[in-house]
Amino acid sequence: MKPLPLVLVRMISTDPPRQENHDALWRDGWYRFAARVDSPNFGPRPSISHIDLIVLHSISLPPGQYGGDEVRQLFTNQLDWQQHPYFQSIEGIKVSSHFFIRRNGDLCQLVSCDDRAWHAGVSNYRGRANCNDDSIGIELEGLEGETFEPAQYTALRALCAGILQRYPIVHIAGHEHIAPGRKQDPGAGFDWSQLQNGLGLADHFFPATIYKHT
Ligand SMILES: [Zn+2]
Repeated sequence: MKPLPLVLVRMISTDPPRQENHDALWRDGWYRFAARVDSPNFGPRPSISHIDLIVLHSISLPPGQYGGDEVRQLFTNQLDWQQHPYFQSIEGIKVSSHFFIRRNGDLCQLVSCDDRAWHAGVSNYRGRANCNDDSIGIELEGLEGETFEPAQYTALRALCAGILQRYPIVHIAGHEHIAPGRKQDPGAGFDWSQLQNGLGLADHFFPATIYKHT
């Protein structure tokens, strides 16, 4: 075999891997700055999926009660359905999201972003259905209609910035926007302009219905 030209050898041996920065932040779809809590509720994405959407949610269990371990238990199929009357109304559901941000800003990741988490359900956005196929789901500990904590916006902004570096995101929407009439989260208490300004993104990243032109 002919030896490689010297210039090519130099390129191979000294050039950093093309996605070195990305690899530092992400490994196999896992975000470096999130505590990993593996959920069994995921599957492969369709082979042609183009991950261009972040979906924001809110969740608390029981609804409106913060700080407990029940959301993690739900996403890992460990919730005791008998523990609270509300839990019996959702008994047996198997759901997950890629990320969960607590009221104090603590961030955990339950599913690799390269895999398909089960957060959107029946949904349609930017002309495509089944948003689980090609979106990344972020749950904020909260309740639709209530506000969110400054620490959550800080964590969310950093997380979204990291996702934007790694995935070809061009849309950020709420569950209420991808499943209108069926879902209301994160709800009117979520400050979209704070997220938008924090990320420095243009209006077209966000649902038209949230624009507040001044
Ligand atoms: Zn939701």
